[in-house]
Amino acid sequence: MFGAGNADAELMFIGEAPGANEDRLGLPFVGAAGKLLDKLLGEIGMERGDVFIANTLKCRPPDNRDPHPNEIASCQDYLHRQIELIEPAVICTLGNFSTKLLRADSTGITRLHGQEEIRVIGSRAVRLYPLYHPAAALYTPSTLEMLRADFQRIPALLREGAPPQSEPVPELAELLELEAEMPEPEEPPVADKPEPAAQLGLF
Ligand code: URA
Repeated sequence: MFGAGNADAELMFIGEAPGANEDRLGLPFVGAAGKLLDKLLGEIGMERGDVFIANTLKCRPPDNRDPHPNEIASCQDYLHRQIELIEPAVICTLGNFSTKLLRADSTGITRLHGQEEIRVIGSRAVRLYPLYHPAAALYTPSTLEMLRADFQRIPALLREGAPPQSEPVPELAELLELEAEMPEPEEPPVADKPEPAAQLGLF
């Protein structure tokens, strides 16, 4: 299950991994956590059709266990390419796994939720905005209230737009290719060559 939504979305959500129903239907967040996500989106005047939703893992881990580091590593390039293609201004990571992956840091969601920062992901600068995973908010009212409060800031982040993108740094292979394509510098015609000083009678 690779993700779904608006390919032109300014707002992207990145969850953890598909569950059994998501795998079967090929759609993200189809269960109770998805209903909550829809509700929170509705409260800020948005709906699924406005956003793109992807996951850290593209396949369901057996028995819904936590993703393993090698599984996260296997799916990482795909996620980066998705971000490059969607070009979102704001990415909300949902829960610990996507937050730790995209920040390349082990700090957990309890400390980070609701704190926006600019990060370069793949080749793209985005406003990264970690949120609690909606599944964690389903049965814990205090988590739900924090998630709801964090959601309320999303419209303001979207109004700020994408952070400035720096020039992409060409890869070494691209530079070598460019050099190979450049025409050889031409030798100036013999007549244009400067005369050696002695022949000009200067000394
Ligand atoms: N939880 C996730 O993290 N992703 C889904 O797609 C569904 C539930």
